[in-house]
Amino acid sequence: MTGRVLVLGGTAEARRLAERLVAEGVDVLSSLAGRVADPVLPPGEVRVGGFGGTAGLAAALDGVAALVDATHPFAATMTAHAATAAAATGTPLLRLQRPGWTEQAGDDWRWVDSLEQAATVVAGARSVLVTTGRQGLAAFAGLTAHCVVRSVDPPEPPLPARTTVVLARGPFRVEDERALMTAHRVDVVVTKDSGGPMTAAKLTAARDLGVPVVLVRRPPLPEGVPVAATVEEAAVWVLRGWRERGTTRPPATRCPR
Ligand code: NAP
Repeated sequence: MTGRVLVLGGTAEARRLAERLVAEGVDVLSSLAGRVADPVLPPGEVRVGGFGGTAGLAAALDGVAALVDATHPFAATMTAHAATAAAATGTPLLRLQRPGWTEQAGDDWRWVDSLEQAATVVAGARSVLVTTGRQGLAAFAGLTAHCVVRSVDPPEPPLPARTTVVLARGPFRVEDERALMTAHRVDVVVTKDSGGPMTAAKLTAARDLGVPVVLVRRPPLPEGVPVAATVEEAAVWVLRGWRERGTTRPPATRCPR
């Protein structure tokens, strides 16, 4: 066993965890799906592309001391694959997932379970800011409202008939979000409950402007997998095993929340 830690990434938290662990001398391999054309790379070794399902991931866990699933809260397939492959191979698994957003006084939030439900809720709007990412936009294709679609890379059709694409990568500032919504006369915002500070400015801007927000609920987490809410909790989980057992597997304990 090499004692290597595999971090399933694609989030700022995954990058920060890799930075933290590499600084401690841990052998880290970060994995990216390859969805973004020009990703910000973490330190340590990086691999790009799918593993080929749970069997492929299980094979990739050979020689891996611990697996941290730090993928996005909506990367449900990868999270399920991680749980299955870790259980099949006996690899300790931690899910690193930032908390969701919390409604504050002055917010007008409407919760839905899917992008399709979100599209139904905003069907009567005039101008919609869609910040759910490049994938799944087909759910909004039937909208007749003006849609401002913001994503890191250009979205692919099908898109709503009247779409303005805004290419941008967070973090975003509240004043810029207010300006974007005002310029396009946005009367509703659609977002996933991604959580975290990088993309939260739109929620503040919507509150300031009295614009309602439709939030898509997160998919559930696999049962029995310990969850860390912060990079530091995840680093402690990895390093505890590292220090207690040298280069062997860390204990699969539940992190304090
Ligand atoms: P997904 O639907 O859960 O996964 C689909 C497939 O993509 C997986 O079965 C796997 O292919 C591959 N994959 C996903 N994450 C991977 C990773 N970190 N390393 C290697 N392969 C990966 O995933 P998704 O929602 O498309 O997200 C893809 C990536 O974008 C993830 O890294 C995620 O953290 C990031 N991201 C997602 C969102 C979002 O809203 N979903 C937002 C921001 C960033 P195989 O079955 O072939 O292994």
